[in-house]
Amino acid sequence: MLSQILTPNACLTCGACCAYFRVSFYWAEGLEMPENVTEELTPVYSCMKGTNRKNPRCIALTGTVGEQVSCGIYEARSSSCKEVQIADEQCNKARLARNMIPFTPLETNEPLNDDDYEKVG
Ligand code: SF4
Ligand code: SF4
Repeated sequence: MLSQILTPNACLTCGACCAYFRVSFYWAEGLEMPENVTEELTPVYSCMKGTNRKNPRCIALTGTVGEQVSCGIYEARSSSCKEVQIADEQCNKARLARNMIPFTPLETNEPLNDDDYEKVG
């Protein structure tokens, strides 16, 4: 499968996960958010408006998915939003659904080919 090396600002040209999942969270998290961006799901869970429908798109997302986006409530976004990390399973699922190339997760191990490297000088 094709994949793409991620960059730190990749989310700013993506936004796929904000327009794919139902973004739900414990209702009290919504108290930190501006009025009118959440809706009640159950007595204890809320979700971001716009995400509990067939073609989801979070009300707080501005811009064009796959081109340039930003989150209008970034500092107050829910724990569910923070859970999705670039190149994780949810991220790549959302990207694929939006016809975007998935990311290759960063390797955390040290490079294997440095052992015999000799410095010049
Ligand atoms: S799908 Fe991945 S790259 Fe796109 S905005 Fe979400 S976390 Fe960022
Ligand atoms: S609150 Fe922000 S990060 Fe969370 S889904 Fe909406 S636009 Fe995306």
